[in-house]
Amino acid sequence: MLKNRNITFIGAGSMAEAMISGLINKAGIPPEQITAANHSNERRRLELNEKYNIQTMAFSEISFNNTDVIILAVKPKQAETVLQQLRPVLQDYHVILSVLAGISTRYIEEILEKALPIIRVMPNTSSMIGESITGISAGKYVKNDDLDLAQELSKAIGKVKIISEKQMDVFTGIAGSGPAYFYYLLEHIEDIAVENGLDRELARDIAAQTLYGASKMVMESEDSPAELRKKVTSPNGTTAAGLEALAENGGGIAIERAVVNAAKRSKTLR
Ligand code: NAD
Repeated sequence: MLKNRNITFIGAGSMAEAMISGLINKAGIPPEQITAANHSNERRRLELNEKYNIQTMAFSEISFNNTDVIILAVKPKQAETVLQQLRPVLQDYHVILSVLAGISTRYIEEILEKALPIIRVMPNTSSMIGESITGISAGKYVKNDDLDLAQELSKAIGKVKIISEKQMDVFTGIAGSGPAYFYYLLEHIEDIAVENGLDRELARDIAAQTLYGASKMVMESEDSPAELRKKVTSPNGTTAAGLEALAENGGGIAIERAVVNAAKRSKTLR
């Protein structure tokens, strides 16, 4: 579906770069099919141009007649300005993907005042290495072909789940913000390991591989995380002692609150 489709990114920041990198290096999209436009930062444009060989330009220079897919990748606060700029140049065949956290398809449809397919795409930063989990949800005018295209494009940066737009805030709280929770966990494990005599590099490797292994177990096993946890916890053993301390110190509640808080913030970005 992506073959011969020209893709234009509006906003050339870190999320756009992660997607561009996946599209070129993983999905094999020729760089000539990709354009990235940003505000006024010419140095950034040059950097992307040199790194990926894509076309980069200012918004005013984009040829929308030669664009099939438009990907909105500016900050949520810049959404209204960009949508107002886009409105007069849109064509009936355009498909619009938005990675903007907290901005609903309805909001976009209302500003654009056109019956165009709008698809929300919520990746996370692990897209840099092709390991995102990306949630996609469809707006009012989206057809199956448009959704297939969004799915194919999102697969270039990792795994994809189709969700309803109502689920987007909690998805953002879990997956969009999720990598940071695990970094935070690893940070603490690393620090305490160093305090207890391990070199930092060694501690980092051990902690990261432990998380990776546990993650893979969850993905490959029939058991739920709770069942896996029970299986590795012998009564009065070391794991039981560790988990007791986690529970006593509100570990579970802290994690739940993190997700709820992030999901709540996602609702306020629009
Ligand atoms: P960023 O600040 O790195 O990039 C934003 C880019 O938009 C910049 O290049 C800026 O020059 C450009 N820009 C601003 N106004 C513009 C305009 N009027 N016209 C053209 N370009 C303009 O931000 P980012 O981290 O890449 O995030 C972009 C979007 O991705 C956000 O809406 C965010 O909600 C979403 N998102 C980010 C992540 C993440 O983990 N970074 C995850 C999911 C979704």
